[in-house]
Amino acid sequence: MNRFLTVMFCIGLTFNTNSISAQKNNSLRVVLDPGHGGEDSGAIGVIGVNGIYEKDIVIQVAREVIRLNKELYNNRLEIYLTRYTDTFISLADRAKLVKSLLADVLISLHCNDSPIKESQGIEAYIQGSQSHRNLELRRESEHLA
Ligand SMILES: [Zn+2]
Repeated sequence: MNRFLTVMFCIGLTFNTNSISAQKNNSLRVVLDPGHGGEDSGAIGVIGVNGIYEKDIVIQVAREVIRLNKELYNNRLEIYLTRYTDTFISLADRAKLVKSLLADVLISLHCNDSPIKESQGIEAYIQGSQSHRNLELRRESEHLA
């Protein structure tokens, strides 16, 4: 069965509890997590059609966000990546990195594939807590998504 690499980004968003302190400094600390890397290619486009790896697309998207933040917004956002090169980093190490950076926002970039040729669009997942304590964070995450 052919699988088609579609322009479909999974964006995982979460607000850290220090987002209020970041707003005082007028700088939001954003961690972009280009999914996969190294031996983990993620989704693979059909050879001869687009033949590209998800890991390569998502890191290019992350680099473009950095460029746009610099050129259009004068580095208004403080942006870090979980990986800057084609390197495999475990999910546990990515989580440790995000925590150590005291990120206000985490956006995990993915580009999914589908066996359905007509598939397209954007998916956004946010932190799933339903507790009242996190209700405001959930609302902020939904707004950002
Ligand atoms: Zn992925």
